[in-house]
Amino acid sequence: MPDPNGFLRYDRRLPARRPVPVRIMDWREVYPPAGEELIREQATRCMDCGIPFCHDGCPLGNRIPDWNDLVRTGGWDAAVESLHATNNFPEFTGRLCPAPCEAACVLGLGGQQPVTIKQVEVEIADAAVARGGLRPQPVPAPTGKSVAVVGSGPAGLAAAQQLARAGHAVTVYERDDALGGLLRYGIPDFKLEKRHIDRRLAQLAAEGVRFRTGVDVGVDVTAVHLRAEHDAVLLACGALQGRDTPETPGRALRGVHQAMTHLVAANRVVAAAGEGRPALATLPDGTPIDAAGKHVVIIGGGDTAADCLGVAHRQGAAGVHQLDLYPEPPADRDAARDPWPTWPWVLRSYPAHEEGGARVFAVAVQEFVDDGTGQVRAVRIAEVTVEKVDGRRIVTALPGSEREIPADLVLLAIGFEGTEEQPLLSQLGVTRNGRGAVDARPDWQTDADGVFVAGDMHRGASLIVWAIAEGRAAAAAIHAYLGGAGTLPAPVDPARQPLAAR
Ligand SMILES: Cc1cc2nc3c(=O)[nH]c(=O)nc-3n(C[C@H](O)[C@H](O)[C@H](O)COP(=O)(O)OP(=O)(O)OC[C@H]3O[C@@H](n4cnc5c(N)ncnc54)[C@H](O)[C@@H]3O)c2cc1C
Ligand code: SF4
Repeated sequence: MPDPNGFLRYDRRLPARRPVPVRIMDWREVYPPAGEELIREQATRCMDCGIPFCHDGCPLGNRIPDWNDLVRTGGWDAAVESLHATNNFPEFTGRLCPAPCEAACVLGLGGQQPVTIKQVEVEIADAAVARGGLRPQPVPAPTGKSVAVVGSGPAGLAAAQQLARAGHAVTVYERDDALGGLLRYGIPDFKLEKRHIDRRLAQLAAEGVRFRTGVDVGVDVTAVHLRAEHDAVLLACGALQGRDTPETPGRALRGVHQAMTHLVAANRVVAAAGEGRPALATLPDGTPIDAAGKHVVIIGGGDTAADCLGVAHRQGAAGVHQLDLYPEPPADRDAARDPWPTWPWVLRSYPAHEEGGARVFAVAVQEFVDDGTGQVRAVRIAEVTVEKVDGRRIVTALPGSEREIPADLVLLAIGFEGTEEQPLLSQLGVTRNGRGAVDARPDWQTDADGVFVAGDMHRGASLIVWAIAEGRAAAAAIHAYLGGAGTLPAPVDPARQPLAAR
């Protein structure tokens, strides 16, 4: 029986982050482990309310009150089992999820701080490793059916694991030289050290999943070949088409780049250092790209922008400005606008924001300014207001508000425009919709029979937790399509949206 008064006895507490002056000297994760005493105390704050809205907040339907109570009572092995029943990769979500479950925690109704659900999750995930490692599950007799998964991000890997555990022969194709999708070369190590991915990949391999890296499907192997070789195909290629701003004067100057160009280059240097290889951060054409000693301007306010900020500080930037089109959000939930248990519009500060840099809200870039040699030397910005009229965004600059910010390196982190247009799609006869995503029928099939889609490629740029949930659900649909015995768990359907006020 959970403790109904725990939240009255204990305040919400998280483990202290590593000190800023220490952590910006390396690429290691920012959070140290919480320690058993703290995490059991925090799990005690979960009262196991009658209708746990956190379940609906979490796209995976994680059994949060169950594992909170198991942690409270020290039942770590059972907590590990309960968490893995709904989530293939809690070590990723426990570190990186923005935790919509916490926004939906019933404690928020009474003005209390939510349970530290995400922290409890990562502690259980790490306990799984500490208590004997991620042991492969025994796989059933082969079904004789085979599935190709294109893309090794969290959606593709979750689907691959579910299908392999159901007895299907699964091959994951990845065009990069290493597996993990955005978790590998998009998200920096200070948020997710790559050993977590490698450990999980070893488990998948031991369960029979085969991996083919360095294979760009549609180029190195045709989709026709893939369809001939496999009984079903899952597309999990992500939404990697970066939004640009070609109309802004000076966009073609040297030093103005897509954020992902910089992040991937930086992550590759860290990966090489881990293997004892020296490496330079370079663009694909070999041009160096590094923030050391530079004035950096990051345009955008989301995860990608915050990751660029943390990278710039670790590379030794002279100064960093982060520009956001929208006004500074409030510190607390506006219940009229975003009633509990929906996801509130509030100021989100990432650990990277503690490390320095200036955030500038309600501004838009008017020009990237040339130093006379074709290299950017500043951005000219104006204060703006943003309105929605008939669903369209109208940005109006305030007259006389223009000014310059020095800039040697400008990073565009202004979002993604869906999945990339690539030969694979035309070979399969699959088209992108108006948002650049690939539509799925209720059974996760695309317009091409036997070809399924999941993750960001279907949903548009989203979150790891949604990618895993869609990967699991698409795997269930593929299992049914292949005539597999029984059913696999399907936490979401293709039309499922986050909790929202109607
Ligand atoms: C910088 C950044 C930071 C982020 N931080 C967070 C965070 O903190 N928390 C969070 O929840 N989410 C975060 N996200 C979002 C999250 O990473 C994505 O939602 C998630 O990775 C999507 O998973 P996916 O499997 O659908 O696709 P992806 O992870 O994008 O993987 C798709 C894979 O498909 C491969 N591929 C594409 N085409 C082919 C082809 N033709 N042949 C072979 N392989 C192919 C790609 O190389 C890639 O590896 C972040 C995103 C970015 C860009
Ligand atoms: S995956 Fe995200 S939403 Fe689900 S329980 Fe974990 S932190 Fe909460």
